[in-house]
Amino acid sequence: MARHIFITGGVVSSLGKGLMAASLAALLQARGFRVRIRKFDPYLNVDPGTMSPYQHGEVFVTDDGAEADLDLGHYERFTGVSAHQGDNITSGRIYQDIIAKERRGDYLGATVQVIPHVTDAIKDFAQADTDDLDFVLCEVGGTVGDIEGLPFIEALRQMRNELGRESTCFVHVTLVPYIAAAGELKTKPTQHSVREMTGLGIQPDILLCRCEHELPEGERAKIALFCNVRREAVIPALDAPNIYAVPLQYHAEGLDAEVLHHFGLSSPAPELSRWSGIVDRFQNPEGEVTIGVVGKYVGLPDAYKSLNEALVHGGLANKVKVKIKWLDAEIFEKADSEIAAALEPMHGILVPGGFGERGTEGKIAAVRFARERDVPFFGICLGMQMACIEGARSAGIEKASSTEFGPTEEPVVGIITEWMGKEGLETRAEGGDLGGTMRLGAYTAKLDGNSLVSSLYGGATEISERHRHRYEVNGKYREALEKDGLIFSGMSPDGLLPEIVERPDRAFFVGVQFHPELKSRPFEPHPLFSGFVAAALRQARLV
Ligand code: GLN
Repeated sequence: MARHIFITGGVVSSLGKGLMAASLAALLQARGFRVRIRKFDPYLNVDPGTMSPYQHGEVFVTDDGAEADLDLGHYERFTGVSAHQGDNITSGRIYQDIIAKERRGDYLGATVQVIPHVTDAIKDFAQADTDDLDFVLCEVGGTVGDIEGLPFIEALRQMRNELGRESTCFVHVTLVPYIAAAGELKTKPTQHSVREMTGLGIQPDILLCRCEHELPEGERAKIALFCNVRREAVIPALDAPNIYAVPLQYHAEGLDAEVLHHFGLSSPAPELSRWSGIVDRFQNPEGEVTIGVVGKYVGLPDAYKSLNEALVHGGLANKVKVKIKWLDAEIFEKADSEIAAALEPMHGILVPGGFGERGTEGKIAAVRFARERDVPFFGICLGMQMACIEGARSAGIEKASSTEFGPTEEPVVGIITEWMGKEGLETRAEGGDLGGTMRLGAYTAKLDGNSLVSSLYGGATEISERHRHRYEVNGKYREALEKDGLIFSGMSPDGLLPEIVERPDRAFFVGVQFHPELKSRPFEPHPLFSGFVAAALRQARLV
């Protein structure tokens, strides 16, 4: 049976629990264990799909179409294990299911309560489909003591009681702040946070103490004494120079060894050379390129988490550092000279995914600049749609637009209400709910074997990539666009939905309807990102 590791956070949010869970999983994997990571999000949204990227960062999409928390992206990138629907749950989803059952009469008149109904649903979720695993790591979102989080903590307490200490391990992530005026690290917040946990019936087994300064031996011993854990179970977690160094650092501090000790397991030392290899490559680039990302949510890098990582991976593949310049699309809705001033220093221009009209004219202007100046261009989802609208306007269809932005005479991008989905014909209503009405998850695309993208994918003519969009490029404009040089080099298998466009007469001009960034991993950089960064590198050598 799989053993469970529960990861909770105390003191403050943003301690990097997701990265911590991903790193611990990677360390256990490096010791030969089979792992899976799950995330509990205590908020009441049914899924993060309708949440603003400003509030919650990017929405990560799995192959099976879950709109999930961005931590699932870390999990996939660090372990290589693809996440699925069953790896992320919110309170909203649990209540939705329970209330639907209650309305159907499934509870046969019983009173429906947080304990046992909500807690049972949480326990079922944690334990579902775990037979072929050695470890399931469950991260609880938020901070211990949050009202919404209480049912989750209670469910985990019950699991410890039912499965025993030998099958469950509580890792609590806390903060040990440095008070500059006193010149001291303070352990009291950690003590309070552990007391909060014990008040809820849980004694943490391992404390991962985030700190900005070396944790002196005396403080470590003090935390162990007051928090009732072994001294070896107090793991200092200093800020790492980059995220790839985190697993190595936690290993050096003894985290994975302590987890194995807790479970009474032994294993040979982990094989970590691929991690040190990547840290080495990251820290010793042979060059540098600057990529301008022209987007809407540029104030909050978490809104483009996977994109940021995929560009880094593209850099690793080419042994260069990728400097990302986040550019607010709205600033491009100005004079051409200002656009040129902002974009001329870029070796590549990327227009990422997005929703709504704001900033789109600026994105179109950025596409035009890339096309006219032959600067490597990569358009993702909304970015591909903008490339098509720009192409149509360049072909003389001046009113080209998307129905996402209101009624238009020239719907180069429009909503499609019927298409062949994974399980036959799928339909959606034009004015339907916003939640769960998108083309989501992995879909196949057929590639033109002579295209640039096909060569980047190693000559493949069929690929599978993850989607998250409501609108499509309108196939009716294909002829006009191709005549102008914008070739449709990838289509859905039924030939209806454009998946990829490219301009073969440009150094690198590619637009894709899917989100390749979601599948890029440090040990397997996505070919489109490697190709884009390689093109930017050629551009950097030219300019
Ligand atoms: N807003 C566009 C659509 O819904 C693009 C979505 C995206 O970029 N993810 O089709």
